[in-house]
Amino acid sequence: MNVLVFADSHDGMIAKSAFEAVTYGSKIAKDSGGSAAVLTYGTISSDSLNELASYGITNVLHCSQLTDMDPQQLARLLAAASGDQQSELIVFSHDYTGKSVAPISAARLNAGIVSGAIDYPETSAGFTVKKAVFSGKAFAQVKINSDVKVVSLLPNSVGKTKTEGTANVTEFNPDCGAPSVVVKEQKSKGGEGISLTEADLVVSAGRGLKGPENWGMIEELATELGAATACSRPVADIGWRPHHEHVGQTGIAIRPNLYIAVGISGAIQHLAGVNGSKVIVVVNTDPEAPFFKAADYGIVGDAFVVVPKLIEAVKALKIAQG
Ligand SMILES: Cc1cc2nc3c(=O)[nH]c(=O)nc-3n(C[C@H](O)[C@H](O)[C@H](O)COP(=O)(O)OP(=O)(O)OC[C@H]3O[C@@H](n4cnc5c(N)ncnc54)[C@H](O)[C@@H]3O)c2cc1C
Repeated sequence: MNVLVFADSHDGMIAKSAFEAVTYGSKIAKDSGGSAAVLTYGTISSDSLNELASYGITNVLHCSQLTDMDPQQLARLLAAASGDQQSELIVFSHDYTGKSVAPISAARLNAGIVSGAIDYPETSAGFTVKKAVFSGKAFAQVKINSDVKVVSLLPNSVGKTKTEGTANVTEFNPDCGAPSVVVKEQKSKGGEGISLTEADLVVSAGRGLKGPENWGMIEELATELGAATACSRPVADIGWRPHHEHVGQTGIAIRPNLYIAVGISGAIQHLAGVNGSKVIVVVNTDPEAPFFKAADYGIVGDAFVVVPKLIEAVKALKIAQG
C-alpha cells in the first residue's frame, strides 16, 4: 500500500507531531510492501527535511510556494501529491492543520476517513482503524471501504521510531489555485513556553490553587520538568489563566506522556481532554476527588505543601544526574 504522510511545519522545522504520523505511515507502507512519501510545505530547513529520513522516509515532496495554512490550497496540493505518488492511504496528524485539511482532502479524493485514529489499522480483512469515541469512554473500530483512505492520527498514539536512511527531497509545486484565505498577521498567544499540544509533559492546575497569584509554583515545576502548563476550564473562565491553557471537552484535548493535575477535581468534562495521557499524577486534598479514579499516581495533600516538595525533588534529581 502506497502511503502519503502530510507533515506540517512550524518556524522552519517539521512539526514534532508529524514525526509520529510519519512513523505510522512508513510502518504501514513497509508491512504492506508499498512505499511511503511525505508531503510538506512552507519554508523548512534542509536539516529538518532530511531528518524525515530517520523515520523511514526516502521520498519527501516539498512545496515551497505555499507558506500560509490555507486548507483549500493544501487539500489541492495533497490531491496532486497523492496522484503523483499513486497513494492509497493519506495520513495526517490529528492536530489543528490535520483536523481542517484531512476532511477536505477526503472529500476531494472521494475517500473514506477516520479522524483521530489511535492505533495501526487491522488489515487482515479490509482496513479497520480503532478510534476513541464518547470523549475517550469507548472505542470504535471503523472499516474504510473506499479505494483511497484518509486517516488522521491522534498524537501520542503509536510513538516515534527512528531508523537509518537518507531522504530524497524533491520540490513539488503544482497549481494549488488562488488562496481562499490570506493570513494578514500572526501573533503569539502569549505563551512563551512549550506548546501544549506538542508537550510530552504537562503540569496543570485548577480552582484548588485559590487564585492566579499562586501559579508561580506551577510554572516553576513546569520549567524544572521542561513541561507545558495547562488549567481547568473555570480557571480560564475567571481569568486566572489564559484560555489557550484550558484543557477538556470544551478546551484542548491532549495526550502527553505525563499529566500532573494539581487542585483539579477531575470532572468528566476535564477528563475528556486529558484521559489519553500515558501517566496521570493527581495532587488533591480530597481523597474522594474523582480524579483519583483516573490517576496512575495520587498524592492526597495540600498543593501548597506538595508542589514545593516536588520542585525540590526535581531540582535534586537534576543535580544528582549532573
Ligand atoms: C458543558 C460543559 C463543558 C465543560 N468543559 C470543561 C472543560 O473542557 N474543561 C474543564 O476543566 N472543565 C469543564 N467543565 C467544567 C467541569 O464540569 C468542572 O466544573 C471543572 O473541571 C472543575 O474545575 P476544577 O477542578 O478546577 O475546580 P473544582 O471543581 O472547584 O475543584 C477544585 C479541586 O481542588 C481541590 N483542592 C482544593 N484545595 C486544594 C489544595 N490546597 N491542594 C490540592 N487540592 C485542592 C478540591 O478538593 C477539588 O477537588 C465543563 C462543564 C460543562 C457543563
